[in-house]
Amino acid sequence: MRTRAAVLRQMGSPLTVEELELAPPGPGEVLVRVAAAGVCHSDLHLADGHLGSERQPIVLGHEGAGTVEAVGAGVAHVSGGDRVAFCFVPSCGACTQCRAGHANLCVPAGEHNSRGVLGDGTTRLSFPGGEPVKHFLSVACFAERCVIPAAAAVPLPAGLPLWQAALVGCSVVTGLGAVRNVARVRPGQSVAVIGCGGVGLQAIAGARLAGAARVVAIDRDPGKLERAMRLGATDTVLSGDGRDPVARVRELCGDGGADHAIEVVGRPDTIRQAFDMIRPGGTAVVVGIAPSGVEVALPALDFVSDKTIAGCFYGSGNPAAEMPELIGMLMDGRLDVAGAVSDFTDLDGIEAAFERLRRGQGARTVVVLDEGAAGLPEMI
Ligand SMILES: [Zn+2]
Ligand SMILES: [Zn+2]
Repeated sequence: MRTRAAVLRQMGSPLTVEELELAPPGPGEVLVRVAAAGVCHSDLHLADGHLGSERQPIVLGHEGAGTVEAVGAGVAHVSGGDRVAFCFVPSCGACTQCRAGHANLCVPAGEHNSRGVLGDGTTRLSFPGGEPVKHFLSVACFAERCVIPAAAAVPLPAGLPLWQAALVGCSVVTGLGAVRNVARVRPGQSVAVIGCGGVGLQAIAGARLAGAARVVAIDRDPGKLERAMRLGATDTVLSGDGRDPVARVRELCGDGGADHAIEVVGRPDTIRQAFDMIRPGGTAVVVGIAPSGVEVALPALDFVSDKTIAGCFYGSGNPAAEMPELIGMLMDGRLDVAGAVSDFTDLDGIEAAFERLRRGQGARTVVVLDEGAAGLPEMI
């Protein structure tokens, strides 16, 4: 069948919306009519060539939700008509990382994702002339339809609008995972979050849910700080105005700094700030993705004060297994993803969304692919 999709033909060049061929789902695969997809910084990183230049041509998009249209042989957990959210690491459950509880680092899923192919090493997407087109992170949901591994399809309950469910599979899993699985925030603690975009806002909401007494939101955009306050921040620090955010966080949190800092920007200076603003014994969690080749300098003597700096990828847990609980938190109102959405657009508007991300403006942009199914709010 044919599908319209936003294609990255060359790193560093704009996406082009094109008609592609989409082959039917093979064994263990699912065909989904995409309803909505979030535009994430990782899509932009790949488009700008920051993650290497091996994966073009490729359809981007890794955070989304839609309706199952067909399933391949051996798929039992979903069937036609089911609504699903996407999990972009379709973990195998059997490799050493999966067995050790790190499904986010699944070895075969990571290998396929790094090459832009599905589980059999090939793609279902191609140009009309037959040249293969790759799938970003097993999902490739900046398209009307996508074929994904069955393990990437997480069933949704009735009632949750798909434009909200679309954000679970990256920003919610990542932001909440950083708080719950890596920082392990406890009631009464203090948490500083550097970078209040789609993922940072979920880390803020997650920190409040974990019972943090003080949640300091740090960003250079006052609009994002307002949004952060609505989602649970207790204090805000505007960065980029010449004042040192590290000193402000230490002042607000006392006792030598915050118990935890979560960095969601991916720059050496903000990673350093996260490490500097935690108290002795505190933990800095790096969620932001830095371009390939970037290094960070840290004051090594600080390690004698039991400071920890930890990496975090896709929530550092078992994303697909955790998603039903996170979806339940959206359903009962404990989590508010709507508050993290600043813009709605269509496939042609993704470039403008990338430009907003480059400038650090706005929060999540949601690409609406199927307006009827997305269940959009009335104001747009
Ligand atoms: Zn993402
Ligand atoms: Zn595995």
